Amino acid sequence: MSDCTDLPIHELASQIKSKKISASEAAKAYLDRIARLDSKIGSYVTVCGDLALAQAKVIDGQIAKGKDPGPLAGIPLGPKDIYLTEGIPTACASKILEGYTPPYNSTVIARCLGAGSVILGKVNLDEFAMGSSTENSTVKITKNPWDLSRVPGGSSGGSAAAVSADLCTASLGTDTGGSIRQPAALCGIVGIKPTYGRVSRYGVIAFASSLDQVGPMTKDVTDAALLNVIAGHDPHDSTSLDLPVPDYLSFLKKPVKGLKVGIPKEYFAKGIDGEVSDAVRKAIKKMEELGARIEEVSLPNTEYACACYYIVAPAEASSNLARYDGVRFGFRAKGETLAEMYEKTKTEGFGREVKRRIMLGTYVLSAGYYDAYYRKAQKARTVIRQDFERVFKKVDFLATPVSPTTAFKIGEKTADPIQMYLSDIY
Ligand code: GLN
Repeated sequence: MSDCTDLPIHELASQIKSKKISASEAAKAYLDRIARLDSKIGSYVTVCGDLALAQAKVIDGQIAKGKDPGPLAGIPLGPKDIYLTEGIPTACASKILEGYTPPYNSTVIARCLGAGSVILGKVNLDEFAMGSSTENSTVKITKNPWDLSRVPGGSSGGSAAAVSADLCTASLGTDTGGSIRQPAALCGIVGIKPTYGRVSRYGVIAFASSLDQVGPMTKDVTDAALLNVIAGHDPHDSTSLDLPVPDYLSFLKKPVKGLKVGIPKEYFAKGIDGEVSDAVRKAIKKMEELGARIEEVSLPNTEYACACYYIVAPAEASSNLARYDGVRFGFRAKGETLAEMYEKTKTEGFGREVKRRIMLGTYVLSAGYYDAYYRKAQKARTVIRQDFERVFKKVDFLATPVSPTTAFKIGEKTADPIQMYLSDIY
């Protein structure tokens, strides 16, 4: 059996369709690699080998009969453990969802399976996607495959680590405030946060609903057209856009020449590591050589972005997490009375960072502080959005860093939540 684990989707799918390799062989190759290497990296929280092999067998059967299983024929995926997956435990790296097995698939998982993919298992994340390093997982620490003493980023750190270590062909992450883009950058893979509304969130565990988005995490840019499979209207998600989905692959053939690329000056001003700004400037130079027009632009309200985000996101999270009460899902603590059971379930079931956000969120939404914090943050959000609207009248794209630093050491920022929050500035 050839080792196909380093192939991107577009190559592996064509090899499977042309019978150079079977979907079963591909799934086995990945399962072997996970068994061999993942104890060092810690990207998977669940591996479902039997299920993956059964799915792969179905794909091989379709190919043998001359049927086209779809664009993801036999592609082994390792989605973030925030997606509901029928029959596969889903806990969002939280004790409070321990033992929960969803009765249905999220829309994006159903779409990937419908396009021929195979699910190898589920990968690690910060508990309820709150974090920038995956250290907030209650399950395990995920390591950066390029340097095991460093974090893979977060919250989709399991996804970024698994893709970069060839432990799956691609992953699905979620991005509320950087959780696809930052870990993708820290592990050297490709990640996209699509436009809000483009991809359905039905069956995706909610963190901050006005910000959460689903997106691909892949080995190369061509593979990011996985978006073709997952994008599009879904009547189950009221925020999903009812607009036609373009063929994202067709964009790859368009030249860079003539495009106007904006460089926000505030993003290079202070706090950015020399290594990061050098790498980004090098990429910008490359675009210039290819004929793009580079223009400096200003996003003057950048300095308020983190503070604004860390009011809006916890406010929404505190409301979304109210449903985990020990009655409907997962973990339940024992109590003499109903109130005691609720209280103990929440105290024991949620981790430190999640509790911190629930407290922050309920505080900024409380009657006495709503105007001073939540309403103010919503106003700041509008002003920040207007910065972008103004700039996008002038340029087609912005080229920016996604993290002020390269991958930091495990434990380096855990004692100081503010330091961790600041790594979300871009
Ligand atoms: N680091 C951000 C946070 O902790 C990102 C979260 C996300 O995008 N899910 O909130």
